[in-house]
Amino acid sequence: MKGCINNIIPFSAVDGVGNRMIVFFQGCNFKCLYCHNPETIPFYSVADYKDGMVMTPEMITEKAKEQMPFIRGVTLSGGECTANYDFLLATVKLLKQEKIHVLIDTNGFVEQSKLIELAKYADGFMLDIKAMDSGEHICLTGVSNDLVLASFETLLKMGKLTEVRTVVLGNLIDSRSTVDAVSKMIAAANPEVPYKLIRFRRHGVSEAGKDLEIPAESLIEELKQLALRNGVVTVITL
Ligand code: SF4
Repeated sequence: MKGCINNIIPFSAVDGVGNRMIVFFQGCNFKCLYCHNPETIPFYSVADYKDGMVMTPEMITEKAKEQMPFIRGVTLSGGECTANYDFLLATVKLLKQEKIHVLIDTNGFVEQSKLIELAKYADGFMLDIKAMDSGEHICLTGVSNDLVLASFETLLKMGKLTEVRTVVLGNLIDSRSTVDAVSKMIAAANPEVPYKLIRFRRHGVSEAGKDLEIPAESLIEELKQLALRNGVVTVITL
């Protein structure tokens, strides 16, 4: 089995618990206006893939084993790694055979039966909730958030939700109402799940996102306080 890997960062301190190797899968089922890696969105067949690496689960696992003296585990990211499901599942199973800690960075747009199967093996998931209002979500990503919200529930029930993230925007979506609703949802279900608020920045964003506004620092702080007041124990701002 082979898959298209856009990039591997052997050592990162910002994508999950501890220092980790990050694997960026090629292909995403969203088209977020603020995507910082728009080159990871198109899907390719392995035969046509020229921009990154064609790899097997064994190759990824070997690379992770080489890095293990320096890292705590591996984060599988994208693009959207669950969109290449069979390849992702095979990779996770192999990494876990080697007792490597595995986190999955996901937009949550995945069939729930597949997510449940994946969550039996992966140690945890970092889930983006980009907007609570379905219309705003479609406007921002091109698709509805129904599956994303179902994924939130599924991962919570399975005890596999490591972190929830929202990118805060200065316009287009009402970030205040999204953060309010998401933080209430986290607090009601498990207040210990960390919530990360990421300030939108223009770096790397494609032409489609040029009209998006960077939110004021004061809004980020206000939303952090809102989430804390709503009962989330740990709110991280970036
Ligand atoms: S889900 Fe992530 S990779 Fe996919 S388009 Fe959105 S920001 Fe980009």
